[in-house]
Amino acid sequence: MANIQQRFDRLLACCRDLYEATPDLRDFASWPGELQFAVPEAVIVPAIDLVKGWKNHHPVHLALQDVADIAAWQRSYTENQVGQQFMKSYGFIELFGPTGHYLTADVRAFIGYWGAGLAYDWHQHEAEEIYFVVSGGALFRAQGEADRYLGPGETRQHKSNQPHAITMTDEPLLAFAMWRGPGMADPTSQANRFSDWSAGSQPEIG
Ligand code: ZN
Repeated sequence: MANIQQRFDRLLACCRDLYEATPDLRDFASWPGELQFAVPEAVIVPAIDLVKGWKNHHPVHLALQDVADIAAWQRSYTENQVGQQFMKSYGFIELFGPTGHYLTADVRAFIGYWGAGLAYDWHQHEAEEIYFVVSGGALFRAQGEADRYLGPGETRQHKSNQPHAITMTDEPLLAFAMWRGPGMADPTSQANRFSDWSAGSQPEIG
């Protein structure tokens, strides 16, 4: 069996392939020049079982499943904020970035999973963001833009401090995301939620 770094290197290489093949991602940010592997202390979340149980042939999907048990999973919300069901069926890892599995100050990349039926409520953050759907799909919503259902290979960008939300319907979502610009290094838990906005409503402009 490959050692820990080899397994993460494979995930990183698969993400790089996806990046190189996707003009929207290449336009968004350069691939970081120097990536120093930081051996993760595994953080286990319930969603790992959902990730591992989801059959899909995408190389990033498979490589993530291979490191699922040894990765440092994060959840930026508490049960009080989003409820037990959300906490049980979502999680993400920071692949590279200021606090990632690979360290870099240039740009940040995450891989996240959200279970079917979850509503990822309206929130915003200073960093600019791009999502790439690896597998599954979801309805992407952003202030000032039309809602759009994204499937595998499709991307969506969020501007600095542009409120956005993601609604999972009958399938889960596995997505690769990048952050760039001011606020890039902010803790993800600092993203502002709008708890008074229901997932079905649009935030007011201004
Ligand atoms: Zn975001």
